[in-house]
Amino acid sequence: MAVNKKNIVVVGGGFAGVNFIQSLGSDSLYNITLVDINNYNFFPPLIYQVATAFIESSNISMPFRKMFKRNKNFNFHLGKLINIDSANNCVHTDAGILPYDRLVLALGTETNYFGMENVKKNAFPMKNITDALAIRNKILLNLEDYILHPENPNRDAYINIVVAGGGPSGVEISGMIAELSDRIVNKEYPELAGIKPKIHLVDAAPVLLGPMSKVAQQEAKEVLEKLGVTISLNVAVKDYQDDIVVLSDGTKIHTKALIWTSGVIARELPGIPADKIGRGRRVLVDQYNTVQGFENIYAIGDICLQATDGNYPNGHPQLAQVAMQQGSLLAKNFIALDRNQPEKPFAYWDKGSMAVISRYKAVADLPKFSFKGFFAWLTWLLIHLVPIASFRNKWKLLGNWLWSFYSANSGLRLIIRSERKRDAQEVRTNRQA
Ligand SMILES: Cc1cc2nc3c(=O)[nH]c(=O)nc-3n(C[C@H](O)[C@H](O)[C@H](O)COP(=O)(O)OP(=O)(O)OC[C@H]3O[C@@H](n4cnc5c(N)ncnc54)[C@H](O)[C@@H]3O)c2cc1C
Repeated sequence: MAVNKKNIVVVGGGFAGVNFIQSLGSDSLYNITLVDINNYNFFPPLIYQVATAFIESSNISMPFRKMFKRNKNFNFHLGKLINIDSANNCVHTDAGILPYDRLVLALGTETNYFGMENVKKNAFPMKNITDALAIRNKILLNLEDYILHPENPNRDAYINIVVAGGGPSGVEISGMIAELSDRIVNKEYPELAGIKPKIHLVDAAPVLLGPMSKVAQQEAKEVLEKLGVTISLNVAVKDYQDDIVVLSDGTKIHTKALIWTSGVIARELPGIPADKIGRGRRVLVDQYNTVQGFENIYAIGDICLQATDGNYPNGHPQLAQVAMQQGSLLAKNFIALDRNQPEKPFAYWDKGSMAVISRYKAVADLPKFSFKGFFAWLTWLLIHLVPIASFRNKWKLLGNWLWSFYSANSGLRLIIRSERKRDAQEVRTNRQA
């Protein structure tokens, strides 16, 4: 008997979208189309290691077509969401129109510059692989430019790096840059003998790693300060132009690299009415992740705001685990729904959070206790290896890590695209605009 397949369109192949598709498996009831602006999935928690040339981008990425090559019901559509036409049950992308029976929105977030246009124009966000490679190129180019321009009175701008945001990403990249510059710059850049890149970590909050335990916050501060990172708390970045970062207390720092890890805002969902959008631009969903006011549109992961979970009345934190658990449960609920079984409401199971501060040093907050140091670092290593897509990638990453952590010198410091002329041109154009 021919089965009337349901067309499921999933927009966004991050943690939420991929876990949803994996959990739905090859169920013959469904025809799944994944829409994404990239043709690959990647692992954001390790982006900072790509940005610091510690691991390769291919260690933490996987093309969708390869990932789902065994799923007979899987189709991929490379495109950007342009509009949701709920009246006609279809989505418009920049590459075509896709009809759906059910639409799953899993587009995640984008960098939030809090309305600071100069920061948006000139800072380096750290949200995806492209951003990470741009940071890597910039840091390496800046070192070369420092050497090439001894006459420049503001030459320090090349080796000053400002990191905005004292959350896990900001702490991790500050620690990694400090450590690598300590070990590598002196060995490989003899022209910089005795000179070290200066890293400034800035956050508007009174502590680093805000949502983590006091143990983690204290450890992060102590370890980073030992590595020579200058930490400025209770101050915010207010402006960034002409290579000068201006802080809220009036301090000015000359730098050609402001790395922005300060905040995110949910991606826009054109076609979803404004009254269905809540805090942080997140779309409001019920306990089954159905978008409020719709019967066949769902949202999972960072993009949604769900206030029905008793332990999280203001919505869940925007974390990988939430996205993964929501993705898997939605798939199970679809299967239940189509077999006339009851659906389960979502309840987040918090497995804890971690951050690496430097080589062999991490902090871990588990639901019942916190720990730090080498054991936390080892736990972090294992936990981050498990979700990496594909067996081959796990081994490649493990090999890369063992070598890079041991030698503190991965040898990946390649300026792949010399963007020097384009950069200069862009900066000039930006300043004129
Ligand atoms: C640098 C960094 C480090 C992080 N570290 C941690 C960590 O250590 N632990 C933790 O729990 N969480 C961490 N997070 C947060 C975690 O990555 C997110 O909570 C998680 O990725 C959310 O999953 P998601 O599927 O909702 O969105 P995402 O993973 O962001 O996926 C969104 C997908 O949608 C696609 N997309 C976006 N816009 C469009 C469009 N217009 N059209 C089509 N496709 C689109 C994107 O290409 C992407 O594939 C980190 C985030 C970042 C940026």
